[in-house]
Amino acid sequence: MSKLVSKWNYPTTVRFGAGRISELPDVLAATGIKKPLFVTDPGLAKLPVVASTLKILEDAKVPYGVFSDVKPNPVESNLTAGIAVFKKGKHDGVIAFGGGSALDLGKLIAFQAGQTLPVWDFEDVGDWWTRANSDAIAPIIAVPTTAGTGSEVGRAGVITNEETHTKKVIFHPKLLPAIVIADPELSVGMPSFITAGTGMDAFAHCLEAYCAPGYHPMADGIAVEGIRLVFENLPKAFANGKDLTARAHMMSAAAMGAAAFQKGLGAIHSLSHPIGALYDTHHGMTNAVFMPYVLAFNRDAIEEKIVRLSAYCGIKGGFDGFAKAVIKLRKELKVPHALPGLIKGLDMDKKRKTLIADMAVVDPTAGGNPVKLTKKAALGLLENAIEGT
Ligand code: NAD
Repeated sequence: MSKLVSKWNYPTTVRFGAGRISELPDVLAATGIKKPLFVTDPGLAKLPVVASTLKILEDAKVPYGVFSDVKPNPVESNLTAGIAVFKKGKHDGVIAFGGGSALDLGKLIAFQAGQTLPVWDFEDVGDWWTRANSDAIAPIIAVPTTAGTGSEVGRAGVITNEETHTKKVIFHPKLLPAIVIADPELSVGMPSFITAGTGMDAFAHCLEAYCAPGYHPMADGIAVEGIRLVFENLPKAFANGKDLTARAHMMSAAAMGAAAFQKGLGAIHSLSHPIGALYDTHHGMTNAVFMPYVLAFNRDAIEEKIVRLSAYCGIKGGFDGFAKAVIKLRKELKVPHALPGLIKGLDMDKKRKTLIADMAVVDPTAGGNPVKLTKKAALGLLENAIEGT
């Protein structure tokens, strides 16, 4: 484990390694934040990992506020409440501490507190981000406690619009945190369901980025190594949450997935987003359920690439061997094979299925799928995931 300590800029500065959360006061000084708002979620807020981090701030005499009204799959009312606390406390920056939900909401509070337009005007569409007042964005320090979304190194925040029941991706270059502390010790307490789901999220990011059409060899290179790290380390982290080496490699794989998905994502995400918005399922676990069905659907367009990837990962049997390895990994991680295993009492009528297919084809990730995601195809994939076939 001692070797897994590093500092890299890609382009975010990442202070990586066990125990590095102790550098938080130094990181605050480096970013010029004097009165941070510490944003986390209510589950984490009760855990020793938050208490010990706040003690670091207290010992360094840093005045801070805490905001933890953050739902998994955060919603606009969380953002509005967070902005009010940020303004009332006269905070000048955010420490976003948690999984993707707390990281995204923390980032969005720092971003949106200084804007006059509604957050929906900054959706990741064309150059909408240029509408923002860039000078009014507060600095962000990101501290991940899960290993999946990679939000800590990303320029986006995901938030659900409760009126339309859609997940929206908000984008601005300055949503990229100034400094990340990636301390695998903080992820040791993750329950196994979240370890599996977040790890499969990192896998889905790497896999969909790698399979997305287009020329981006840097993203491809990052994605294949990310996938190798997942195959090697996710089962270990799942079996023994205290395996710090496996936790560290998974934290890297998560950041790599987010770096790679600048190239694009695909139908796993296009289907997972409406399911997450309508049924409040865990994002990564939902991706994991859809993965084998989408892989099979894309086969003709990606077979050659997957054969190359398999060789790199030491998986035998070409495309079929890779597909089997995905199923084996899912089984090991106790990922439900079909949607009814994830959503108890699921009973989707035709109208609901059509709604999900409609939402999937217009999801911004659909364009990155190597085979065109038509409404018929989205419906077919949804049926596959419901029936487990
Ligand atoms: P999460 O943040 O919703 O956390 C899930 C649960 O795990 C919570 O109950 C939390 O309290 C708990 N938890 C987190 N860390 C823990 C720890 N160390 N010990 C014990 N419990 C812990 O889960 P997530 O998968 O990290 O994030 C999902 C969110 O991220 C979704 O809203 C998704 O849409 C979004 N997302 C964002 C991006 C992006 O690029 N910004 C990418 C993918 C997903």
